[in-house]
Amino acid sequence: MTFSPRLYAGRFAPSPTGALHFGSLVAAVGSFLEARSHQGRWLLRIEDIDAPRCVPGAAEDILATLERFGFEWDEAPVWQSRRGEAYEAALEQLKARGFAYPCACTRRDLAAAPAARDGSHRYPGTCRDGLPPGRSARAWRVRADGRIHFVDAVQGPQEVDLAADAGDYIVRRADGLFAYQLAVVVDDAAAGITDVVRGADLLDSTARQIHLQRLLGAPRPNYTHLPLATNAAGEKLSKQTLARAIGDRAPAVALVAALRFLGHNPPDTLAHASLTELWHWAQTHWSLSAVPRCRQAVASGFY
Ligand code: GLU
Repeated sequence: MTFSPRLYAGRFAPSPTGALHFGSLVAAVGSFLEARSHQGRWLLRIEDIDAPRCVPGAAEDILATLERFGFEWDEAPVWQSRRGEAYEAALEQLKARGFAYPCACTRRDLAAAPAARDGSHRYPGTCRDGLPPGRSARAWRVRADGRIHFVDAVQGPQEVDLAADAGDYIVRRADGLFAYQLAVVVDDAAAGITDVVRGADLLDSTARQIHLQRLLGAPRPNYTHLPLATNAAGEKLSKQTLARAIGDRAPAVALVAALRFLGHNPPDTLAHASLTELWHWAQTHWSLSAVPRCRQAVASGFY
């Protein structure tokens, strides 16, 4: 792989599984303002790799909403569905170095394995030293050993024992699709992303991504995991929890709410101001140190 130089570059990487909701707006606002406060570039990536979960038209709808809210991105968006060759090349690199191996296990085989932090199963290592006799390869996994340390700019120091957490994880699924962990690492490296700012639901994926960066020789970005917006029941806002589409709201009202969620105090009048005034205020007052040091918070009134 070849990598671009390390000028500040941030990104927002929505999955087009539904319309943009308040939680995704918070990630967009945080990553955009962090990039601009570092005079950096801000890029968009449409994470439409998991085709069965994508909703037709959702990506276009997300882009139109971002534009209407006054976000400005610096390059044409990258679509993961068009990046298969790059993921294939990364997988070949992992295979060639013996880091990846084929796995025959089905969901049923793994049902009794202990749960990892992110709710998946910890892989018990069944196919690590070769496929069991009579079984054929379904997915590809990466050997995951050792500890990963990183300091998240909001969530603080993190330490993950890879083997004790998810264990050897999937990089190519049984249905042939590349896993999110692989795609995100390949794409961030190819785009020269220096700073990943996103919701804290992805904090648990970060150690695996850092591990893959090491195996692929890709640079490690800085990580900032913003508090995750939840409903009153503490559930992540999503299509499943019936989060309301943010595009139905007045942009300035929603942006003021996102800034407040991120610990800032825009005056009430900004909710009725022009987007130019609003973004000017936001860029002048943005400070990562104001963001609450918590993993999740209720998005009162915005779900
Ligand atoms: N596509 C992921 C999501 O919408 C975000 C991935 C990332 O920011 O790394 O939750």
